[in-house]
Amino acid sequence: MTEKFYPNIINAEHVPAAGGKTLDIINPATGESLGKAAASGHDDVDRAVKAARAALNGKWGRLPASGRTKILFKAAELMNARAKEIAELESRNMGKPMLHVLGEVKQAVEDFEYFAGAATKVAGTVPPVHGAFFAYTVKEPVGVVGAITPWNYPIMLESWKVAPALAAGCTVVLKPSEFTPISANVLVEILHEAGCPEGTVNLIHGFGADAGAALVNHPGVDKITFTGGTETGRAIMKACANDIKRVTLELGGKSPAIVLDDAKLDDAVLGSLFGIFYAAGQSCDARSRIYVHEKLYDSFVEKFVAATKKLLVGNPLDKATHIGALAHPSRLPIMESFVESAKKEGGKILCGGHRLTGGDFDKGCFYAPTVIVDLPHSARCVQEEIFGPIVVISKFTTDEEAIALANGVRYGLASAIFTNDVTRLQKFVRALQAGIVAVNTTATALPGLPFGGFKQSGFGREMAMETLETYLESKTVLMGVTGKPLNPFGIEL
Ligand code: NDP
Repeated sequence: MTEKFYPNIINAEHVPAAGGKTLDIINPATGESLGKAAASGHDDVDRAVKAARAALNGKWGRLPASGRTKILFKAAELMNARAKEIAELESRNMGKPMLHVLGEVKQAVEDFEYFAGAATKVAGTVPPVHGAFFAYTVKEPVGVVGAITPWNYPIMLESWKVAPALAAGCTVVLKPSEFTPISANVLVEILHEAGCPEGTVNLIHGFGADAGAALVNHPGVDKITFTGGTETGRAIMKACANDIKRVTLELGGKSPAIVLDDAKLDDAVLGSLFGIFYAAGQSCDARSRIYVHEKLYDSFVEKFVAATKKLLVGNPLDKATHIGALAHPSRLPIMESFVESAKKEGGKILCGGHRLTGGDFDKGCFYAPTVIVDLPHSARCVQEEIFGPIVVISKFTTDEEAIALANGVRYGLASAIFTNDVTRLQKFVRALQAGIVAVNTTATALPGLPFGGFKQSGFGREMAMETLETYLESKTVLMGVTGKPLNPFGIEL
């Protein structure tokens, strides 16, 4: 059988990397090869950026907003029709349960629909000015956008960036993660089928250090939108400073779930369970720290551990599976290193704490859902993003203590609070340093709701009307209406 190859897509053409290099793609649940993707370098990025510029100055740039709306709605329709196929491809490539990925593909569809509708709502303003003038503002696309995306929700996060960029009238060069390149080819093919002119959306596969860095450093790129780790985000922000590229960063998190003493215990347990173990904890908004009021602490921990032990880890294509594989073999030693550090720092492992072995587990990257207690606030597992199925539960006594613990990390992406006391709730809502405060739920990402972080979780918001602003420039047009220019020098000609 010939090996599957996932090429770059530049100017609507499927092409290998100019240097002929490739990268390997594997199924992390089985270890099987899924083929190869192009491993691009500077020359490929350069071609893609030039194609995106030509489209901006050409057919795509001339299309009215209503034309962009039609294409984005069509893309949503085509994606919806292929949702199951995409979900299966992505589940095999990323290791997440098929049914969960299907929900994420549906969310990507909704995202395209949301921004399809939003494209025609972009408008300038007519600000009141001194009577000698008439002024208005127009919104223009920021230009060529470089979109760099991670492996944890591939097609969903690619859509979070591509849909608003296109709605705003920008053109795009997309660089997906080296681990999960497959669904990006389907996405870009769908966009062409929906009517995007050549060069409007280009796909560059490759490693971050090569293709990603070349995109970030390319002078023809006007804006970088990035989702990934905070250290990579910091390097990207520095590189963007060289030519003052616009940049939005959606970075890591260490999000808390706080359970007050009046919370409904079972709801708090189930909500927190979903908050950490969905996607095997590989979510930027994973609620990886749970703070429970001392009155509920013992019963919460008992119920939480019992519920964790009920989670079925296994084949992502099996409907019964709750947690699939980690996205890549390189993730397993990272989990082990975190758990080792927790043991050294006095943590007690109540369940999990090891990779899963035996039978089919031996072929893939499976880690047992892990619950740790008794760690100090300074511990590595409390402070650093683990990005895996590992949660730390801690006790608090006063609201002030809970707020201080919740805010006591460098991140500020999401948070959750379980309570029915609206007065106390407001105190937490005001005090929590997080871009999202979920109440009696750990749901976070819904189209239309701004998604993004405080502090070192990044800046800029995705999925909402304000997202469009990050892909737009504002131009002020000021017109003299007296028939004479300002002449404060009083010079006569
Ligand atoms: P990265 O931040 O390295 O990867 C995200 C994307 O950035 C990938 O497409 C990657 O390419 C690319 N990239 C890497 N280096 C550069 C660079 N110098 N210039 C431009 N692009 C680059 O994430 P990792 O996969 O290494 O994960 C590391 C940690 O980041 C995780 O453990 C987790 O804590 C966090 N993370 C957070 C995510 C989030 O949703 N906020 C998502 C993923 C990770 P490539 O992968 O091809 O090398």
